Amino acid sequence: MGEFDLIAEYFTRPVRRAALGVGDDCALLQPGAGQQLAVSSDMLVEGRHFLSTVPPERLGHKALAVNLSDLAACGARPLAFTLALALPRADRAFLAPFAQGLLSLADAHDIELVGGDTTAGPLNICITVFGEVPAGRALLRSGARAGDRIWVSGRLGDARLALEAFRGTLTLPGEDFTAVRTAMETPTPRVALGLALRGLATSAIDLSDGLLGDLGHVLKASGAGATVERDAIPRSGVLARQSAAWQHTCVLAGGDDYELLFTAPADQDDAVRAAGLRAGVDVTPIGRIEAQPGLRVVDAQGRPVDIAERGFDHFA
Ligand code: ADP
Ligand code: MG
Repeated sequence: MGEFDLIAEYFTRPVRRAALGVGDDCALLQPGAGQQLAVSSDMLVEGRHFLSTVPPERLGHKALAVNLSDLAACGARPLAFTLALALPRADRAFLAPFAQGLLSLADAHDIELVGGDTTAGPLNICITVFGEVPAGRALLRSGARAGDRIWVSGRLGDARLALEAFRGTLTLPGEDFTAVRTAMETPTPRVALGLALRGLATSAIDLSDGLLGDLGHVLKASGAGATVERDAIPRSGVLARQSAAWQHTCVLAGGDDYELLFTAPADQDDAVRAAGLRAGVDVTPIGRIEAQPGLRVVDAQGRPVDIAERGFDHFA
């Protein structure tokens, strides 16, 4: 199977929203009147962003999901994406399920594959997503203000727990392992929540590198500090059965959660909960933005927690 056959068979579909899709030198996109294009790329490298054990269908899902998560964090509506793919060989047993996982998530979010590049090489997947957002209404990292509440969607830490189980640093019962492995391999991008938070959240970011590191980006961009209540961070039943030390590492420094962290004025709690309901995902308050610079973590009794030793590394 040559490069062009491969593209034709797996990655060429008629477009409905784009003005021009796969097949020419460029794709053509037509954002709506008054909309800004939101653009983001994420590259997935074997061994660093996924393990060789991941089923191809899940890899296709994840490659797009992590990109959709960036659109979600900006409150952008997905439009189109491109796929740059380096493959060791043109292998149908890989390509068919990979394309299936990729394109079924694309269909679920009404986002179209409009182009890309294909080459031989070590497995590497780079997707660029294009979304649209009304001019000036994108959610940014820079808008958090003292007094805002800090929220997260979903539950944190399962992906890190799965990674540790793969690494052999801990052992999980079969069903628990299956559940957290699914969380790691098929994250759910919170696109509907991002849209529901437009005009409500003062800042947002998606959690890809771990809560402490990603919240740190928001604080830096916003010129603010924060206190987070460690034991308020939502976690799954599987994670809640692990030792306290593992729970703390996974929720605070886990990475690969692909949930949203966002801030909103404290008098908007009801509106934030309503946004979560509309989007079909739990939202949980975990702390406050403060004028005093720095990130402070406290336990349920309000006692300071030492976070100096928590690495932000992931797949390192
Ligand atoms: P060029 O040589 O002009 O870069 P290519 O021959 O690489 O074009 O690609 C031909 C067409 O197929 C282009 O429209 C390109 O966007 C598309 N394409 C290439 N690889 C992929 C892919 N992995 N997924 C989707 N479209 C692709
Ligand atoms: Mg090319």
